[in-house]
Amino acid sequence: MASIFTKIINGDIPCYKVAEDDDHIAFLDINPNAKGHTLCVPKKEVDKIWDMDKEAYLNLMDFSYKVATAIESSVPCERVGMTVIGLEVPHVHVHLIPLSSMKNATFQHKVSLEKTEFEDVAKRIGEHLK
Ligand code: 5GP
Repeated sequence: MASIFTKIINGDIPCYKVAEDDDHIAFLDINPNAKGHTLCVPKKEVDKIWDMDKEAYLNLMDFSYKVATAIESSVPCERVGMTVIGLEVPHVHVHLIPLSSMKNATFQHKVSLEKTEFEDVAKRIGEHLK
């Protein structure tokens, strides 16, 4: 069965898209640790990151770098953290999280955003992509 992220990639489920290329998509996490929390996802569905072939892994890191630097330029924070977990969604994704304190990195404290806040931050990050 297709993962929830494949359904997003195929346009069957909506998302707040931040960036896309032929092989990847970046969209806001629907239950963010902090405003601007973004997921970078390879379009090819693979469960675990270490099962990716090396070229695909490096391409995902390159895509994530572009998105992370755009977040750092557009979302107020101390720095942008990167985490890979995958316990909830078995489709490789890189979490990029604007960090102001350790609290933002724990996945125990969530922020609640209005639709317009998701739209605004997705647009702002998108405008800072190089
Ligand atoms: P993980 O698999 O790394 O433990 O966590 C999966 C992440 O995906 C969670 O932070 C969760 O909020 C996010 N997520 C789960 N379902 C959806 C969805 O349908 N849309 C979006 N944008 N994010 C989702």
